[in-house]
Amino acid sequence: MAVPKRRISKRKTRVNMAKRLRKVKNVLKNVVKCKKCGHLKFPHMKCPNCGAY
Ligand SMILES: [Zn+2]
Repeated sequence: MAVPKRRISKRKTRVNMAKRLRKVKNVLKNVVKCKKCGHLKFPHMKCPNCGAY
């Protein structure tokens, strides 16, 4: 397994976390409600609850 040579600095981890958070927020923003059952789902994807598009 690959082992990092250096420990990541505190600031770097914070930046990385912010980046990841932004990505997650972007994904969550695109979530829509299913017309059939109201379950939260991603657009153009099958509803995980009832299976409708
Ligand atoms: Zn549904």
